Amino acid sequence: MARAALEEARAEGAHMAIRVGRWSGGNGRWACVLRGGAPILWAMEGLDVGVVGAGFAGSAAALFLHRAGHRVTVYEAVEDPAPVGAGILIQPTGMAVLARLGLLHPVRAHGAVVDRLRCVTRGGRTLFDLPYGELRGGLHGLGLHRGVLFQVLFDQARAEGVPIRLGVHVAEIEEGHVVDAAGERHGPHDLVVVADGARSQIRAADFPTVLDAPYPWGALWCVAEDPERVFARELFQVVDGTETMLGFLPTGFAPDGTTPLTSFFWSLRGDAEPRWRRAMQLHGLHRFKDVVRALEPRSAPLLDQLADHGALLFAAYRDVRMRRWHHQAEGTRVVFIGDAAHAMSPQLGQGSNLALYDAMGLADGLAGASSLAEGLQAYQRARESHLRFYGRINRWLTPFFQSRGRALGGLRDALFPVVTRLPWLRRQMVQVMAGVRRGFVLADPLPLPALPPPSQADEGQGDEPGEGAAPRADADRTDADRAAAAE
Ligand SMILES: Cc1cc2nc3c(=O)[nH]c(=O)nc-3n(C[C@H](O)[C@H](O)[C@H](O)COP(=O)(O)OP(=O)(O)OC[C@H]3O[C@@H](n4cnc5c(N)ncnc54)[C@H](O)[C@@H]3O)c2cc1C
Repeated sequence: MARAALEEARAEGAHMAIRVGRWSGGNGRWACVLRGGAPILWAMEGLDVGVVGAGFAGSAAALFLHRAGHRVTVYEAVEDPAPVGAGILIQPTGMAVLARLGLLHPVRAHGAVVDRLRCVTRGGRTLFDLPYGELRGGLHGLGLHRGVLFQVLFDQARAEGVPIRLGVHVAEIEEGHVVDAAGERHGPHDLVVVADGARSQIRAADFPTVLDAPYPWGALWCVAEDPERVFARELFQVVDGTETMLGFLPTGFAPDGTTPLTSFFWSLRGDAEPRWRRAMQLHGLHRFKDVVRALEPRSAPLLDQLADHGALLFAAYRDVRMRRWHHQAEGTRVVFIGDAAHAMSPQLGQGSNLALYDAMGLADGLAGASSLAEGLQAYQRARESHLRFYGRINRWLTPFFQSRGRALGGLRDALFPVVTRLPWLRRQMVQVMAGVRRGFVLADPLPLPALPPPSQADEGQGDEPGEGAAPRADADRTDADRAAAAE
C-alpha cells in the first residue's frame, strides 16, 4: 500500500521517500511514505494475529487481515462447524462488506431479495411499511440462511490458506497466547481479535463491560420450506400488543438446498419457554398452530411441516456494551468485534451486518496506522458512532415489540402509522433499517453502497439457487462483484 502511494506520488513528480522497519517486540513490519521528510502514509503488515471464533465477525476479519499481509490463525471452539441456523436479514451495509471481500455473488445466489419491512396488527392494520427503495431505487436487503454466510466465509478463509484450528475452546488470553479450556497455550500473537459471540467467555473472564445481561425475551424459530414463495420480497411481522409478535423472513435456499425457504419467528419470554414446551407436550402443537394461523392464515403450509414442539428452537439474546473494544492485557493487544463487543436484540436485523462491518473497519484501521496501538484507536474511532447508535436504538425500540408494557403497545400502534407517513421521518426510519445511520439527527449516515442489481438467478428468486448447488466462495470475483468492490 505504501509502495503504491509512493509510486503514484513519484509519477506526479513529488519528492518522496519510503522507510521500512520492524516493530520492536512484535512480528509486524511497517512502511512509511515521507514527503519532504514528513510521514504522510503508514502501512503495516506481517503482524501475528490470533482470531477467536469463526463466526461471521471472526472469519471476515481473518480474510481481511490475511489479505493485508498479516499472519492469521483462527481458533474455533466447535470441532466440526456446520452451516446451520435460522434466517438472517443482510442489510446493504453487510452486502457492501461482502462485495469488498469479493463474496457477494455466491451469497446472493442463495439469498432472497427483501424489498421492505412490513408490520401489521392482529386486525390487519398496517403499522409501518418501509421499503428500502425509499432511499434509492433497487436498494434491498437479503434474506439468507445463516449457514450460507457461514460456509462462504469459512470456505474462503480455508481456500486462501488461513489456518483454522477447530475444537479449540479459548478460555483466556495470557501473555500474548490464547489459552484453551485444557490449559494449552497457542501463539504468541501480536494481536488477539476476540470474536467469540454474545456469550464471550474471554470478555466475561477479564474485560470490563458497561452492560452484559440477557434479554428477558427471545424467540422460537424454525426454517420451513416455502415452495410457492408465499412469503416473498418482504420481512413480514404481525403484532398484538407487545407480548405477541410473529415474523416471516424469506430465506432463499439452504447451503445445499434447492427449495425456497422461509424463516418463522415467534416472540417468547425466556422464562416462559419451559412452560410453553410443557403445554405443547401435554396438548400437542395444534393449539399453537391455531393461534398462529388465526394471526396469519398464509402460515398454514409452513405450520403443517412442524411435527412437534421440538421443531421450534429457542434463541435467547444478550445486551452487551463495552466502553472500549481494545485493550492491552499482559503485554498483548486485544480487540473485541461482532457480538462479543456489542451483542443486541435482533429487532432491527443488524447484528451480522455490524459484525461484518467491524471486520472491515479493523483491517482499515490497522492499514493506515503507524503502530498497532494507533490502528486500534483508529478502529474504535471509526466504529464508535455507528455501533453506539444501533445499541441505543435497539435498546429503546425492542420493548415496543417485546415486553410486558401494555402502554408501549398502545403508543406504538398510535404513533408508528402517523410517523411513518411523514416523509422526513420515514426516510430516517428506512436509513435505520438499512443499517447506515450513525446518530439520531445530525450525524451523517454511512454512504449507501452501490451494489450491482441482482439477476433473477442471483437472488434466490429463480427456480434454483444460481451458479451451482453449494454456496462455494468464488475467489474469482464476478464482474458485478468487482464493480461493487470498486465503488
Ligand atoms: C433469533 C435471531 C435472529 C437474528 N437475526 C438477525 C438478522 O436478521 N440480521 C442480522 O444481521 N443479525 C441477526 N441476528 C444476530 C446475528 O446472528 C449475530 O449478530 C451474529 O451472528 C454475530 O456474529 P459473530 O461472529 O459476532 O458471533 P457468532 O455468530 O456468535 O460467532 C461466534 C463464534 O465463536 C465461536 N466461539 C464461541 N466461544 C468460543 C471460544 N471460547 N473459543 C473459540 N471459539 C468460540 C462460536 O462457536 C462461533 O463460531 C440474529 C440473532 C438471533 C439470535
